[in-house]
Amino acid sequence: MFKLKNQIQNYAWGSKTSISELFGIENPTNEPQAEIWMGAHSGGCSRNVENDDLLSDIIELNKSDVLGSYTENCFGELPYLFKVLAAHTPLSIQVHPNRWKAQLGFVRENEQGIELSDPIRNYKDPNHKPELVYALTPYKAMNGFRPIEQIICLFDEIAIDELKEEVSLLRQEPNSTGLERFFNSVMMLSEKRKSKMLTQLEEAYHKPVTGIVREAVEYSQAFKVYYKGDIGLLSPFIFNVVELAPGEAMFLFAETPHAYIQGTALEVMASSDNVLRAGLTQKHIDIPELIDNVMFKSMAPENLKMQPIIKEGRYEYPIPVDDFGFDILYAEEYNKEQYIRSAEILFCIDDSVVVSSLDKAIELSPGESIFVPYYTRKYTYRGKGRIARVYN
Ligand SMILES: [Zn+2]
Repeated sequence: MFKLKNQIQNYAWGSKTSISELFGIENPTNEPQAEIWMGAHSGGCSRNVENDDLLSDIIELNKSDVLGSYTENCFGELPYLFKVLAAHTPLSIQVHPNRWKAQLGFVRENEQGIELSDPIRNYKDPNHKPELVYALTPYKAMNGFRPIEQIICLFDEIAIDELKEEVSLLRQEPNSTGLERFFNSVMMLSEKRKSKMLTQLEEAYHKPVTGIVREAVEYSQAFKVYYKGDIGLLSPFIFNVVELAPGEAMFLFAETPHAYIQGTALEVMASSDNVLRAGLTQKHIDIPELIDNVMFKSMAPENLKMQPIIKEGRYEYPIPVDDFGFDILYAEEYNKEQYIRSAEILFCIDDSVVVSSLDKAIELSPGESIFVPYYTRKYTYRGKGRIARVYN
């Protein structure tokens, strides 16, 4: 068991202040601190604080003891990547393929000889990328298609003349097929029609609307500041907008369009980098590939937030995939015991906690994390505040 030294990613959309305010991680160069990566991913591998060894090397040297034979046999690597994510400006709307499509796509693009570093490459690895988000500050996002009747109602309210035909077709066929056709035609609009449509959308910003229409209009206007002329300005009328309060969580399923808009959160995902984009981006959008990877199914807004199962003071989030599990542990003044079944990463969210194994006790402050190899088998924790626990 050892403390981790983690890499910070300075992506342009990141907040310059949130991570340093929450966790006291200094930012002397005033760069955006977008993400802290905890895990063994080659794009930003954590290190053992004590000797600077790479976590990936530590795992590679002794896989069955460090990961346990279950993880070694099923995944062959640490199956998850754990992040702190601090978004100041909206990230692209994206969809992640399911595992089967990821495998096929990865092989196909290898055969086509498209380099991994090529900007048109869609499949960077053969894995799916389900994600969990646990908000640390108020957190805005979009997740999944709105109920179809809501989409129709929103478009009726903003009444964009250029899309009259598309909306009317959706009304005639308010099901998965109709939704696919609607989404496809919106994404495929010619440049001329798109710019006409966006002009009409901007005019619609000034209509006296209320409730969810107002909310969608405000999101669209906020996107326009960074993504003028982008088809993603329509997205808040098509996708659910979600605002998580600190301590609330949601799950992002494969084949479900989503976007992170603003706020700081913990994010856990399967170890993958497969992203298909659908707007709010200057990057490449491959529409046929995107459509092929989208499930045209609405998500009920009331089911977007996850309900944890509370067990002995531990909040366990019901994750529908086997790549990772996520709990929030509440430390108390006395020692609580935790048995483990895989390698774990623990992250201290607030206050101060002491995590102990047979031979060691490590004190953690907010923003600090430790790696617990499988062979540790059991640890105890005490103190104040919350620990986020990731395992598989
Ligand atoms: Zn995503």
